[in-house]
Amino acid sequence: MRARQVLHSNPGVEVSAHTYILKFKFPFRLAHGTRTQTEVVVLNIRSEGFNCFGEASLPPYLGVKAYEVIDFYAQLPWAQLLDTPLSELSQVLDQLHPSMNAAKAAIDIALHDLNSQRLNLSIEEMLGLKRATNVASTFTLGMSLPEELPQKLLEASPFKIIKLKLGGSDDKTLVDDFLNLCDKPFCVDVNQGWYDLDYAAYMCGYLKEKGVEFIEQPLPVGREKDSDWLRKTTGVHIVADESVKRLTDLDMAADYFDGVNIKLMKSTGIAEAHQMIQRARELGLKVVLGAMAESSCGVTAAAQLSSLADWVDLDGPVLTQNDPFAGITFRDGYIVMPKGPGLGAKPLG
Ligand code: MG
Repeated sequence: MRARQVLHSNPGVEVSAHTYILKFKFPFRLAHGTRTQTEVVVLNIRSEGFNCFGEASLPPYLGVKAYEVIDFYAQLPWAQLLDTPLSELSQVLDQLHPSMNAAKAAIDIALHDLNSQRLNLSIEEMLGLKRATNVASTFTLGMSLPEELPQKLLEASPFKIIKLKLGGSDDKTLVDDFLNLCDKPFCVDVNQGWYDLDYAAYMCGYLKEKGVEFIEQPLPVGREKDSDWLRKTTGVHIVADESVKRLTDLDMAADYFDGVNIKLMKSTGIAEAHQMIQRARELGLKVVLGAMAESSCGVTAAAQLSSLADWVDLDGPVLTQNDPFAGITFRDGYIVMPKGPGLGAKPLG
């Protein structure tokens, strides 16, 4: 862990943040490159004897660095934010900065932790949701060489559904290698990696024939109309990820997609993600609840909403080698929520 920076200090209240490098167990190959780690900022609020946490995950394609998040935090009116009702927080933060979604999510998570601890309830109980039971998470396979697959599938063995990352010229080979070794239900995430519409249509048709549950973000952001053509032509279910960040993006998504992947780091936190799930339902969209590369802090925050989703993609802790938090765990591929009030993610060490 890097040095902790105190952002706000009053008698009985302290807000601080530090950066941390999350390291993956396997290099993670996606359509837009290979990564071995992700920088995150951990936010800590200590108030009234409660010790509360939030996390901002900063994968490089977001273009936001950890020092920028900490600089943003350093100029915030913390005394005002700590007293802001959770339902108004995103509106207040949007007035202070037009983007910084992951940084805002960390604040929303830590304040959900604080408010639910005050009530002696878990966050899902505070939100009036039933405790998530029998929620299976997908297990994500980065684009893999044939010789890497057996070891990765061994790690995946308790999980009921696999998410395959595609988005290159060797996609059909990757799918065939996987299907030769695994007969579990699977979905696909292309991370905007298909540019040629004929190739995309060919792959969608092939994957539909092989029983894929859905394909996430096959085409780049901005090509939503082509995505609509793709699903209508091939009959495959297409889910938006990068095309949809916040509540205001959902009405567009309903015109072009079958579902949407909702992530706290895009939505600015739990409150708006919850609103997004409700709005997605009104629009007839399926819901994937996902996460960026996050520690058990961010993933446990997302899991508070998992009873509301059609698919849950929260396997981050299983793919990380140096998770600084304990939170959700997995039993036979099903999510086990931590016991006790608040977020339930506790720092290790
Ligand atoms: Mg995705």
